[in-house]
Amino acid sequence: MSNRPQSIRLLGVDIPVKTQPALAPDSPEEEVFGLWDPNDMTISVNRECSPVQERVTVLHELVHAIDDFLYLELTHQAVYALSQTLHQVIADNPRLVQYLQGGAVRMTALVDTTPHRVRRMPK
Ligand SMILES: [Zn+2]
Repeated sequence: MSNRPQSIRLLGVDIPVKTQPALAPDSPEEEVFGLWDPNDMTISVNRECSPVQERVTVLHELVHAIDDFLYLELTHQAVYALSQTLHQVIADNPRLVQYLQGGAVRMTALVDTTPHRVRRMPK
């Protein structure tokens, strides 16, 4: 039984985390582990991912969502590097994660986060 959350709250918006049997790649060589859909405002992960790959993918798609919400215009390489590094820090530092859970500094998205209105940022 997976402990994957059903949704992730990002800047006051609840983003559903769904699984899909397979995600269609843009090209046949490509393997798609996950997807951030800015129109539906959902994160989908490939059901066939290993548990670790799934966690990394959820975090990767969340960084894509943060990128969209804040107009950061990150390159895909930056999203990849940030999500991999954040996952490693979280995995290596359980006491840090526990420490960080004490409250939050509130901020809001810089875009209209009504579903179907989030502007798709170029990859
Ligand atoms: Zn990506």
